[in-house]
Amino acid sequence: MLKVEANFQLGSLNTLKLECIAERYAHVSTTGELREAVSEAHQHSANINLLGGGSNLILNRFLPGITIHMGLRGRELVEESADDVVVRLQAGEDWHETVLWANAAGYFGLENLALIPGSVGAAPIQNIGAYGVEIAQLIECVHVVDLRCGDIQSLTVAECCLSYRNSVFKTPDGKHLIILAVDLRLSKRPFVNTSYPALREAVPNESATPSDVLEAVVALRQSKLPDPRVDANVGSFFKNPIVDNVTAAHLQREYPDMPQYPVDANTVKLSAAWMIDQLGWRGAEKCGVAVSEKHALVVINKCARYASEVIEFTNKIAYSVAEKYGVSLDREPELVGSD
Ligand SMILES: Cc1cc2nc3c(=O)[nH]c(=O)nc-3n(C[C@H](O)[C@H](O)[C@H](O)COP(=O)(O)OP(=O)(O)OC[C@H]3O[C@@H](n4cnc5c(N)ncnc54)[C@H](O)[C@@H]3O)c2cc1C
Repeated sequence: MLKVEANFQLGSLNTLKLECIAERYAHVSTTGELREAVSEAHQHSANINLLGGGSNLILNRFLPGITIHMGLRGRELVEESADDVVVRLQAGEDWHETVLWANAAGYFGLENLALIPGSVGAAPIQNIGAYGVEIAQLIECVHVVDLRCGDIQSLTVAECCLSYRNSVFKTPDGKHLIILAVDLRLSKRPFVNTSYPALREAVPNESATPSDVLEAVVALRQSKLPDPRVDANVGSFFKNPIVDNVTAAHLQREYPDMPQYPVDANTVKLSAAWMIDQLGWRGAEKCGVAVSEKHALVVINKCARYASEVIEFTNKIAYSVAEKYGVSLDREPELVGSD
């Protein structure tokens, strides 16, 4: 029998440690419990909010409707050939534990995505990526339930419309889908991807193994990013802006040191961290919210209680970047609930 709790405090279930009351809250460990939670929401015509590890959310003070905390667990092999496997990962599995499990099992490809906090089910939502790899490269399909009709479907990677920190699940076409499980195709043949410059520097050895890369990624992340268990944060607060070639060329003339990364023939990705750093925000603090000393793209909640304080501070950062560089910064984590 599903336990639904009223006025549930989500402060310990989001890595930004913001105070938020969920009108109703249910932790689901089985598909039966998930079905119960969804039908309870339908009966009350209530909103459904999905919560994984809470590492990419900015929670406002109040979250109306029912908050479903995804706890479906399980990993299984669904296909195997001489070269690779397809593994089915339930949405409530912890992402980093899954990376370690795959590496220990001899299934390769996830090493560069080590130590990203959160759940498997949230990984396709923003197409998690790090050190030159995105989960889009590994997804075989995503199993979802459609909240409008209760149908279970499998979406191909193309149907997920994955792009830089984006997917169909963030759009009106996919907002009604709950991710139940993700199938990943992983290689049985050891290979490494050290195309990302910092990783190549950390693992220069030509005969490096996937385990060497995994260890290097963990070490790099621990040295560069604040630990959310110590300093409340949601990782990168802003996405790196993508601009057209004309804008990029203009910025390069004005600011020759500005890092730029071509995305395709027409667009260029800029470094949000570089611009924030240039404007002197690193280490700045207001009302208990600060820009990390370690990384200019990470915002730390030192002692703020509510999302409004984080938003007020980060709006100032975005405003100053727009004013100086004419580039608008989009938030990476999703702001949900009401103030
Ligand atoms: C220190 C730190 C470092 C990080 N580094 C990276 C990084 O390198 N690369 C990167 O891409 N991200 C990074 N992140 C962001 C974050 O870890 C990822 O986005 C992660 O996938 C979020 O998982 P979660 O379970 O915590 O999602 P949550 O924050 O719980 O949810 C995120 C979104 O997904 C939705 N959601 C969650 N589960 C489901 C589901 N089963 N079905 C449908 N919707 C669902 C939620 O409603 C919400 O909209 C970092 C965060 C932190 C704190």
